[in-house]
Amino acid sequence: MINLSIPIIGTPEIKSVVSVLRSGYIVQGSKTKELEERFAAFCETKYAVAVSNGTAALHTALLAAGIGFGDEVITTPFTFIATVNAILMVGARPVFVDIDEYTFNIDPEEIAKKINRKTKAIIAVDLYGQPADFYAINRIAEKFGLRVIEDAAQAVNATYLTKKTGNLGDIGCFSFYATKNLMSGEGGMITTNDKKIYEQAKLLRHHGQSEKVRYQYNCLGFNYRMTDIQSALALSQLDRIDELTLKRQKIAGIYNEAFGKIPGLIIPMVAKEATHVYHQYTLRVTKDFRMSRDELKEYLQRNGIQSGIYYPLPLYTFSHIRKSLENNKNIFPKTKLATTEVLSIPVHPLLTKKDIIYICAKIKYAKK
Ligand SMILES: *Cc1c(COP(=O)(O)O)cnc(C)c1O
Repeated sequence: MINLSIPIIGTPEIKSVVSVLRSGYIVQGSKTKELEERFAAFCETKYAVAVSNGTAALHTALLAAGIGFGDEVITTPFTFIATVNAILMVGARPVFVDIDEYTFNIDPEEIAKKINRKTKAIIAVDLYGQPADFYAINRIAEKFGLRVIEDAAQAVNATYLTKKTGNLGDIGCFSFYATKNLMSGEGGMITTNDKKIYEQAKLLRHHGQSEKVRYQYNCLGFNYRMTDIQSALALSQLDRIDELTLKRQKIAGIYNEAFGKIPGLIIPMVAKEATHVYHQYTLRVTKDFRMSRDELKEYLQRNGIQSGIYYPLPLYTFSHIRKSLENNKNIFPKTKLATTEVLSIPVHPLLTKKDIIYICAKIKYAKK
């Protein structure tokens, strides 16, 4: 079976984790500090705060930005559930806007229509590894005085105009979950250029405890710390992230060639301002294709190729989210269509040449 994703655990990862285990200091310490410094430099932000996972990063980011009960946060219904759960976790209300049909990211043109007195922030997601349209998003945010949070969980090392992901809004949030492009099993990171956000995020991560005075609690906080074991793993991934990213982009290039002219298949579109890091390589399987999206998925499975549907349902489908919305009239045709057409195929750096040729051929000559 060709898996949709495989965590990259080579000699460097093993050596670096073993050295932390041997050191006897395994919780948040010098390795995590080193990761934060190197990650901030990598994203070209002033600060970075490591946390236990991407959901914790989003939760902490919203709290650090002062978002809470009664506030509204604009976001996309076509994302992983954690993006929206984090909004609910701080007591705020998610307000959805539809996606752009070409990039699958939030459509900036739809955002302004949903802004009112209660609107405090926008969470834009860099879906599949392509940055959202942050030029337009930041312009709207500036006009209305909103905070911009970038959910970059899928887009480490992507760029938009002259900037890296994590540096496109006020706060960037990353996940280092095992399937992500840079992984540490579980793990996460917040990036920002705002010193107040940075200080607040550090407090929230560690029970609200002051870094200077132990057992002095400045606010309600959490245990969202990342361990040095995970940070060591993430550091060895960071060492080779450019090489790993390039491999994904090369494979995507081969797929684009192979599938670009097949009737009924639409290859991923990359906006001219952006680079795509292909956390997922996602095809649209339209009604003009020889078989339905679900049939193609089954056919690939029968032929030993895993594929994934990200995401099969718009998030307003789920009752705990639906009941938080102001009204149930959620008409998002582009999101709805995307949920029925998207199919992500393996694009991870451990695919062999043979795997790639095999996948191309199987899709090219797919028959019912
Ligand atoms: C993975 C992911 C998250 C959550 O990260 P965890 O580390 O699993 O908590 C949030 N948003 C998006 C878009 C993701 O892909």
